Amino acid sequence: MTKKPKVLILGGNFAGLGAAQKIRDLAGDRVDITLIDRKAYLDYIPNIPLEIFEGRDPAVTMHMPLVETLARDAVIFAQAEILALDVKNRKVTVRPNERPGAPDYTVGYDYLVIALGAELALRDIEGFAEHGYTVCDAFHANRLIRYLENDYKGGPIAIGSARFKQGKKGRPDWLPDAAAACEGPPVEVSLALAHWLGKHGKGSAKNITIFTPGELIAEDAGEKVVAQLLEAASSMGFSYINKTEDIKRLTAEGIEFADGQKLKTELNIVFPNWKPHGFLKDLPISDEVGFIVTDMKMRNPDFPEVFACGDAAALTVPKLGAIGHQEAEIVGRQIAKEVGVMSAEEADKTWMPEVVCVGDMGGGKAFYIHATSWFGGDIQELRMGRLPYASKLAYKEMFFRNHGRIPNWGLPLDEWTAEHIKL
Ligand SMILES: Cc1cc2nc3c(=O)[nH]c(=O)nc-3n(C[C@H](O)[C@H](O)[C@H](O)COP(=O)(O)OP(=O)(O)OC[C@H]3O[C@@H](n4cnc5c(N)ncnc54)[C@H](O)[C@@H]3O)c2cc1C
Repeated sequence: MTKKPKVLILGGNFAGLGAAQKIRDLAGDRVDITLIDRKAYLDYIPNIPLEIFEGRDPAVTMHMPLVETLARDAVIFAQAEILALDVKNRKVTVRPNERPGAPDYTVGYDYLVIALGAELALRDIEGFAEHGYTVCDAFHANRLIRYLENDYKGGPIAIGSARFKQGKKGRPDWLPDAAAACEGPPVEVSLALAHWLGKHGKGSAKNITIFTPGELIAEDAGEKVVAQLLEAASSMGFSYINKTEDIKRLTAEGIEFADGQKLKTELNIVFPNWKPHGFLKDLPISDEVGFIVTDMKMRNPDFPEVFACGDAAALTVPKLGAIGHQEAEIVGRQIAKEVGVMSAEEADKTWMPEVVCVGDMGGGKAFYIHATSWFGGDIQELRMGRLPYASKLAYKEMFFRNHGRIPNWGLPLDEWTAEHIKL
């Protein structure tokens, strides 16, 4: 019996799990699949802000067990810290992390899928630990909500992003330079927090200044969408500043920006640079900052057996789970083609990324953005109301109930209802 090709997937959150399932769906039992992650659960990050402002601990509600999910598709899970990649010799160095003290091992592969996301570089922001808050994981979300409930005195709040440092090597001409990695979350947190402040008698949108390092906040949503969002935000009483360039430091007095602007604040809620993991930098498959260079088939041009999807891929800008999901499917098709169960015509179908983002606004409402203008397309859709909120909750429920498998109609239905039914 000839041995099956070994697919090794690094990372088991949205992109890694999505790739594992798509490869199994499309390549069937022609491949053996192993997935390595340091944790044995999927962290459903996009709903963390909604959970905290509705009084639920995201550590309780947003973790989906990964091991049995993968076992349903005969994907072997290994819990380990990934330490190093040697793409010339097709080897990955890992250290099992269930118990401290394990030695390092090397794991080989025929196909490698890098779905390791990125570091959220909070440590790079001077003064963050003392004067900064964020919502990027359950720890920080709970820390923020405790501060708001117990210590916040009703003073000015700044919400926005640090500068995203994007690589240039191997970048296609059509992919613009993004000032921030992912600006749906700061918009979402501003709107939901304004509602929370009102509900708890601690203020309103007037307390909040939204800031962006770029010309326009959420520029990847398209100028038309951003104009509508800013109009709605200013009518609610938010202040807005742009072109801050970067966060220089957080202090007891407030926030200082790289362009010299300063704000006196009581509370700073910030989103950091999405920075590639240190061990990915200086590899022959990486750009100059450490994101993995791929073509539109999500394959590295020099090492075509290496794929990347999700936030770890240089092509994924903005850093959105929805784009990682689209890329995971492309990886599945390419591997199916490699093992002879999909035609090149089918596997290599052209693709344009789509921004899809549904953000909580508080009070049972949400905004829904669907856009391709950032990538040269002409879609720029914005909806606000109860239906996008219901679909945000339903999407998460469906994701958990179906063990990460959103049926093919899941996303289109979400889009259709948000774009065609107004409530
Ligand atoms: C607050 C917030 C709200 C967001 N809202 C939205 C939204 O509404 N819609 C949307 O589309 N996107 C949203 N995003 C972005 C979305 O969360 C990311 O794009 C998505 O999580 C990327 O998925 P990924 O699998 O590529 O990477 P990640 O989710 O970062 O997963 C990487 C995986 O790799 C593992 N890993 C990393 N390094 C190692 C290592 N050395 N060893 C072992 N394992 C390792 C990690 O444990 C993790 O499981 C939001 C992000 C934030 C912070």
